[in-house]
Amino acid sequence: MKCDLLIVGSGFFGLTIAERAATQLGLKVLVLDRRHHIGGNAYSENEPETGIEVHRYGAHLFHTSNTTVWDYVQQFTAFTSYQHRVYTNHRGEVYPLPINLGTINQFFRSAHGPDAARRLIAEQAAEIPTGEASNLEEKAISLIGRPLYEAFIRDYTAKQWQTDPRELPAEVISRLPVRYTYGNRYFNDTFEGLPVDGYTAWLTRMADHPNIEVRLETDFFDESHDASRGAALGRVPIVYTGPVDRYFGYAEGELGWRTLDFEQEVLPTGDFQGTSVMNYADADVPYTRIHEFRHFHPEREYPNDRTVVMREFSRFATRGDEPYYPVNTPEDRARLLRYRELMKGEQDVLFGGRLGTYQYLDMHMAIGSALSAFDNKLVPMLSGRAEAAS
Ligand code: FAD
Ligand code: UDP
Repeated sequence: MKCDLLIVGSGFFGLTIAERAATQLGLKVLVLDRRHHIGGNAYSENEPETGIEVHRYGAHLFHTSNTTVWDYVQQFTAFTSYQHRVYTNHRGEVYPLPINLGTINQFFRSAHGPDAARRLIAEQAAEIPTGEASNLEEKAISLIGRPLYEAFIRDYTAKQWQTDPRELPAEVISRLPVRYTYGNRYFNDTFEGLPVDGYTAWLTRMADHPNIEVRLETDFFDESHDASRGAALGRVPIVYTGPVDRYFGYAEGELGWRTLDFEQEVLPTGDFQGTSVMNYADADVPYTRIHEFRHFHPEREYPNDRTVVMREFSRFATRGDEPYYPVNTPEDRARLLRYRELMKGEQDVLFGGRLGTYQYLDMHMAIGSALSAFDNKLVPMLSGRAEAAS
């Protein structure tokens, strides 16, 4: 293994560090990924029959208010003007999300203006004073009232978390936005868009540098190659973006994750649902939402007689599943603190990213945290090593 820096994981965190180390420090970087492709969970590929870009690990929408991140990512891709909007199907009727004046008036068969709607929601929410809410259900009712909670939140949340909302902590939804306008943009961020020629082109450009080598289908813990944990540890600085519990051999127990199952289908129609994401709020529908990928890129020329849809199902992950969302029970948080203690003992290893820190990170957060970890942790770590060697 000939490199100055070994990076485990080619997701946004790993690739941002790789790009910075190669271009700013001139280091030779080796990036490993156990998957057959680059890019971690942001990877996308074109469905072969239709050419429609499918986000392999669930729909990915780029949005940020962080100017440093926005400026940084412009080097690798241009963005479309896509603005995300989500609708939800409840008892066979479609409503706009997040809950807004349109949702409220449709649901209550009313024509309230903002002030009247505020009064209505305040009356309905008075059932439980916010300070007294002790679980997710009570908290939600104290914020938006029982009728809207039961229609749009209760069963969807139960499907997503596979847990009765009365058993989920109140903090899970400490703020449920209700908009008293008809605005239904899903994100409030300053910048939003999708990569013009797709996520994989963007991710590939980040790694496109003579100093960066990416080795796919290579597991860091597989000791049969020359960049394995055993071969690298202590010899070369490492940036590790895989699961933190796996790194320490599950010494403090397994951290809990939620995983997703996706069912993809090509349908013989040019448009199945008229929008990119339709949530299904009710308990009798087993999936949480349907993605229709053509709608992410209305500017592209896709076939007008076929479309790709993907139904999303949610469940607890077991060891062989893809970890998607940290569950974060109190036991998980206690375990994470113990893992953080163990991390302090690994002086030449920088733990980062979603799996390495057991944190849900949006893409802009993964990139932003990699940019600051590069400046504030990796550069000092490398100069410490250089001093020790001289
Ligand atoms: P990852 O992308 O998970 O990359 C980690 C990589 O490490 C993986 O490729 C993995 O194979 C590799 N790896 C792990 N262990 C090993 C090992 N032992 N050896 C070698 N390689 C290893 N963000 C948004 O901003 N907008 C969205 O709309 C959005 N939607 C999302 C939807 C879903 C369903 C999910 C799960 C996430 C979504 N995200 C979204 C978050 C986004 O995916 C993350 O921000 C991003 O993936 C984080 O990058 P990362 O590098 O930390 O981790
Ligand atoms: N949520 C809900 N109904 C919906 C959409 C969201 O109850 O139709 C709640 C649910 O508890 C979910 C949380 O809001 O876990 C965040 O949902 P969002 O779709 O923003 O997040 P994602 O699942 O895409 O990460």
